[in-house]
Amino acid sequence: MLGFPTPYANELLYSTIARAGIHDGEMSPKQLLDSVFSNRKVIATVDLPSHIQDIEDQYPKALGLDVTQLINSHTLLPIYEPFIPTERITAIRNWMSDDSQGAAHLASGVAASRIKTKEKLLLCQECVSEQRAIYGEAYWDRRWHVPLVKYCIKHGRPLFETDIELNGNQRHAFRSILEVTQIHQLNVTDSDVKFANLAYQLIDFKTTSSPSIGQWTAFYRRLAVEYGFQLGNRIDHRKIDDHYNGYWGKAWLANSDLNTTTKDTSWLKGIFRKHRKSFSFAEHLTVIDAISSGSLSIEEAINRAMNIPVQHHKIKKEVHVKLVAAHTDQFEWIDLLKEHSPKAARLLKQALYTRLYRNHYDWLMIINEKNKGSTNYINNRVNWSQRDRRVAKALLIIINTLEQDLSLPRFSRAYLLKKLTPRTTIEKNLHRLPRTLALLERYSECIDEYQARRLTRAIILLLQRKEPAKPWLLLREAGLSHERMTHSVNKLFEEILKHDSWRKIQTS
Ligand SMILES: [Zn+2]
Repeated sequence: MLGFPTPYANELLYSTIARAGIHDGEMSPKQLLDSVFSNRKVIATVDLPSHIQDIEDQYPKALGLDVTQLINSHTLLPIYEPFIPTERITAIRNWMSDDSQGAAHLASGVAASRIKTKEKLLLCQECVSEQRAIYGEAYWDRRWHVPLVKYCIKHGRPLFETDIELNGNQRHAFRSILEVTQIHQLNVTDSDVKFANLAYQLIDFKTTSSPSIGQWTAFYRRLAVEYGFQLGNRIDHRKIDDHYNGYWGKAWLANSDLNTTTKDTSWLKGIFRKHRKSFSFAEHLTVIDAISSGSLSIEEAINRAMNIPVQHHKIKKEVHVKLVAAHTDQFEWIDLLKEHSPKAARLLKQALYTRLYRNHYDWLMIINEKNKGSTNYINNRVNWSQRDRRVAKALLIIINTLEQDLSLPRFSRAYLLKKLTPRTTIEKNLHRLPRTLALLERYSECIDEYQARRLTRAIILLLQRKEPAKPWLLLREAGLSHERMTHSVNKLFEEILKHDSWRKIQTS
């Protein structure tokens, strides 16, 4: 297409394509698809569009508008990216460049997320006036379309919802802002303003890699400790839940599908435990902001997480960490440990402990480990503390190996115990093996988690095989039926089917 328009600052590619149709004498949606993509099946997608290579091909090389640049500045991928493991980002970018068939939405977690994408296009009236004054025409700004954003930070005004529906009958039509006939202003609360602020910061954050799931796990443990959300050695989930709900307000959280429960399966508890999956951008933003009471910027949080040393086998690594104390805090701690257990020392000097935790984490863990528990044998014939350490170490290695394989049976407590020797002795003496017990509790899967894992595996398999994805095929592949699925997995299944990206796979 000759003279394909270049995107304006923060303009969605969806919008640029719509403008191309207008500039070229109001083509029909089909003509537009033919001339840009030579493919009439391309779906008009706002957040994570595909076939971006075809857009790059419209521009002279000298403009530097390549796929990477177009994705970074004109799609919503940047808000999801910091929370997706780096390896997966490469795959997502490839799908977006070429043909995605909904894979980008599944792999980014957008399809199955509790946070729903917007159903209608939004706009800020003041932004639109400014655009018209500067460029002579208006366009769709990507920041208005970040899920849950209802407020323009630039103008301090609520956004308006337009009558242009997405995912409706016109899935192949790129609709220009000129087509809007009705708007209505959204109601916003203080929490909406706060959230929009975070989202605007996030979308401008530039990074080439992202923290791993392990780094996010460690980040949240440290965050809880740093801001005083612990109870003895444990994370104080109840206090976190109270604070989070108080900070954002229960009503706002419920409207945003971010509500929490006091149950063990609450996502908020999950984010402070070992991460088994990625969490959504909105979960990360709201938790970081709430826990730090707004004092930790989102950019700093991501950088911090990215700089946490990756530990594959903590126990192995300990050998290499030097136990040299160089800081006065460290000397003070060593003195304390001469007379107290690490736990008692921590209760005595909470602030000192927190500083060490923040600045000398590895050192602290090791020194505490070395000064722990040599006096509390329950049974003198067996050194249970030592055995506990050994069994826990073996169990961790087993779990790390098993976790790679999505096809295994449910990791029930009995299943994990079966892998340990001598099994009976361990089982009978679990009350003497606190670390092992804690690991068993943390890593054994409930029925929900297990079924969700099977569903995930089935989706990946279907995608890899490029099979026509029918719901019954997905169920068969996952070995599940509606009767056998638990209530929450049934809901997850329905959400996946309802989501536009699934429908895209189905009709392709
Ligand atoms: Zn505005």
